[in-house]
Amino acid sequence: MSTAKKRRVVVLGSTGSIGTSALKVARELPERIEIIALAACGSYEKLARQARETGVRHVALYDSSKENELRALLPADVKIHLGPEGLIELATLADADVVLVSIVGTAGLHPSLAAIEAGKNLAVASKEILVMAGEIITAAAEKHGVKLLPVDSEHNAIFQCLDGHRGGEKEISRLILTASGGPFRQLPAAKLEHVTPAQALKHPTWEMGPKITIDSATLFNKGLEMIEARWLFGIGMERIDVVVHPQSIIHSMVEFRDGSILAQLSRTDMCFPIQYALTWPDRIKGGLRPLDFPTLAKLEFETPRTADFPALDLARRAGLTGGTLPAVFNAANEIAVEAFRAEKIPFPGIWKCVTAVMDAHVTQPSLSLEAVTAADRWARDRAIDFCEKSAPQFSS
Ligand code: MG
Repeated sequence: MSTAKKRRVVVLGSTGSIGTSALKVARELPERIEIIALAACGSYEKLARQARETGVRHVALYDSSKENELRALLPADVKIHLGPEGLIELATLADADVVLVSIVGTAGLHPSLAAIEAGKNLAVASKEILVMAGEIITAAAEKHGVKLLPVDSEHNAIFQCLDGHRGGEKEISRLILTASGGPFRQLPAAKLEHVTPAQALKHPTWEMGPKITIDSATLFNKGLEMIEARWLFGIGMERIDVVVHPQSIIHSMVEFRDGSILAQLSRTDMCFPIQYALTWPDRIKGGLRPLDFPTLAKLEFETPRTADFPALDLARRAGLTGGTLPAVFNAANEIAVEAFRAEKIPFPGIWKCVTAVMDAHVTQPSLSLEAVTAADRWARDRAIDFCEKSAPQFSS
């Protein structure tokens, strides 16, 4: 493969935080990255602005009710694709080399599989799809000879630490994911009951969308990332650890058999992992400033408070059990986060809901897409039920 070739990139989820950063990276590297299509859920005005700025010929809008409004804002030669089908049409565009999947939640699953089957490399920012269907996606990628390029900062860090490493999985002792610890890292357990959505939406080091910010506050984000790492790097769950590192400067580490550890460091800016994923395996000078060590006061490390934040243990259990349980873990969490944001359940209600739904699930080992989507639907219904039944008790 010619590495100096310009990458033609489709961005699914262009109006979110990752999508916006991807466009910024592409602006800095016009000779290396060409954005050829953009998809958004419902933010049609921002999508139209991005389409005019990038000059793409294809856009997709998941919420098809806004088609006319979007049409009115676009040049006539831009083709509009609509609904779930529209995402798949963009993911399989003949011209595309890489599809960046940065759609919140699990809506990216079908477009991702379609992209893989069409032979496109997949830059994965939507960790939920790997948690839900990691085995299916990694098997499909292998079958079609496409590369999964991690965009999540932790996985991108591990990907960088492993790049060029020839020894394979047996030379790795463990993967060490770093976690900021979120806004409630030092909050006494008794006060978690009174945390409001507004407090949970304030992340100390990263600026991100609401779902992932709440997930960072509960540590579910790190739990999802443990399972994501298990699939991206083919490492058993028992060899995936988490260390709290409040400054978010070390993005993750790999410990090798000989006791050496490699870490990847940068400022907390998602443009770093996005650029590496889109220019891999090359390192290119873009618009990113390196760290300035004397200005870093200190780097600290702590053990996660797993008793107060059960998400990591729940994730480990889901990942070790496998089958349909990770999909259930993920789906129940999505519903619980929505219920918390709507003030239907208190903050600890999120992990209580996920625990209850996981406890009630009879895990299916068969990993067809049908089994996974059925488990996902079942878990959502069950979680909605839990949150509705819990509401009166919590609001009193
Ligand atoms: Mg992350």
